[in-house]
Amino acid sequence: MNKHAIVIGSGIGGLAASVRLACEGYTVDVFEANDFIGGKINSKTISGYRFDMGPSVFTGPEYIKELFDLCGEDFSEFKYQKLHHSFHYFYDDGLQLSLSADKEKLIDELSEKLNESKYVLKNYLEKAELNYNLISPLFIEKSLHRFKHLLNKTLLKALIYIPKYKLNSTMNGENATTFKNPKTVQLFNRYATYNGSNPYEAPAMLNMIQHLEMNVGVFLPEKGMVQISEAVYHLALKKGVKFHLNEAITNIIIENKKIKGVSSKKGNYLADVVVSNMDVSLTYEKLMPEIKQPLKILNQEKSSSAIVFYWGIKKEFKELGLHNILFSGDSEKEFNAIFKTKKQFNDPTIYINITSKEVKSDAPMNCENWFVMINSAINTGQNWDEELKNIKQRLVKKINKLLNTTIEDYIECEEILHPGIIEKKYSGKFGSIYGNASNNKYAAFYRHPNYSKEIKGLYFAGVTVHPGGGIPLALNSAKIAVECLQEDIRK
Ligand SMILES: Cc1cc2nc3c(=O)[nH]c(=O)nc-3n(C[C@H](O)[C@H](O)[C@H](O)COP(=O)(O)OP(=O)(O)OC[C@H]3O[C@@H](n4cnc5c(N)ncnc54)[C@H](O)[C@@H]3O)c2cc1C
Repeated sequence: MNKHAIVIGSGIGGLAASVRLACEGYTVDVFEANDFIGGKINSKTISGYRFDMGPSVFTGPEYIKELFDLCGEDFSEFKYQKLHHSFHYFYDDGLQLSLSADKEKLIDELSEKLNESKYVLKNYLEKAELNYNLISPLFIEKSLHRFKHLLNKTLLKALIYIPKYKLNSTMNGENATTFKNPKTVQLFNRYATYNGSNPYEAPAMLNMIQHLEMNVGVFLPEKGMVQISEAVYHLALKKGVKFHLNEAITNIIIENKKIKGVSSKKGNYLADVVVSNMDVSLTYEKLMPEIKQPLKILNQEKSSSAIVFYWGIKKEFKELGLHNILFSGDSEKEFNAIFKTKKQFNDPTIYINITSKEVKSDAPMNCENWFVMINSAINTGQNWDEELKNIKQRLVKKINKLLNTTIEDYIECEEILHPGIIEKKYSGKFGSIYGNASNNKYAAFYRHPNYSKEIKGLYFAGVTVHPGGGIPLALNSAKIAVECLQEDIRK
């Protein structure tokens, strides 16, 4: 008889784990607390406007291709395009950038408008590529917690470059000494937010994040981001995975330090293997409170959260593109507010994503679907209804100034996401999006491994465990979890 695996949660990490387990010959059941699959990668249509409710920036399609290949399915069925321009940037003093996907043009624009040396920019991006290619096979695609994964030629190659990683510097430290213009520094510091971190504390090594976007490119699935979770869901269905929606797991059953199964309100389910895609801190706290928690890991500073206004806008704004950033006038104070004082900053950086720029059916004719997001402190019990009134006013004011409009007159429908909702709806500890922040140089080693050191048969996939935040990393977390399982079986 096939061995039985249970996956808790159908976020992209859980979905990918279910596909991989099914490919290994397991009978797989996925339990999802919500009434939809995909976790944060889900979509909602309100009054004719379609919104991706979570992620909006798609990088690393090759990690999805890997799953198609594994299942023997044709990846060309997954329709997506590379964007001609990644991001449109708007600075407080009126300067605007529209970054091309063509690297030469990108460097030309940054050099001309920000008065930076082309040579320095080229070197910086080449270094990001080199670091990514050296570090990724070790830190992103493999377990950091099993030495035999690290002991190979790749490690030796990576070690040779150690002095170049600037281990004692921060992202901001490296960017501020590399570039002349504070605006360039602000632009490159922004990538710390891709795993919910603070560039004034996150290690300089994370300056490799921009490699995926600037050297490789930003992509857009034909049907929006939700196509990613739907595609992996369909792979899972084809492999025979069974999904149980609206069924939260309430307990992991453990006997003699070995997995026995899980329970929900509906009953007990036996299993040989459990993969938790739920936030790792909450997996310990809520599902197995009797097990000793690895507190050194779980008590690390949490990543940032987010506030999103989903607005149906009954007008088109030619000034904006698909991905737009309206920079804060003072990034350092903004990050301080998010991570230190945990208060809302009065001039936050605003991200506006408008998929109807490319996918016309995402909004009614002559209208646009705006996803307006700011990074936020985690949920520490703030009165979000009160906070949101002020925040909305500030966002509206900044947007009106940029577009010379009264945007409030064009908002036809509205939905809101805030850290309190993220905590409840997706079970993210304190509403943090990525679990631990990477706000110190040892952060990578303070992420929970993809397996339990205490409980035989228990594994973890998702952004709160190794290797960290973002869709490409969540997909890799599932790969590593199942690799660890295969190794354990061989043992
Ligand atoms: C506003 C926002 C914007 C983002 N933008 C980007 C972006 O542009 N690009 C990017 O790559 N990433 C982005 N992210 C992060 C992205 O969402 C994550 O990287 C990824 O989707 C998280 O996947 P995950 O596998 O960790 O699980 P999640 O999506 O967190 O899913 C976990 C699932 O587990 C379920 N669950 C929890 N507890 C239980 C239980 N007890 N029983 C059953 N089910 C349970 C939850 O209901 C949920 O469905 C963004 C996130 C947010 C919120």
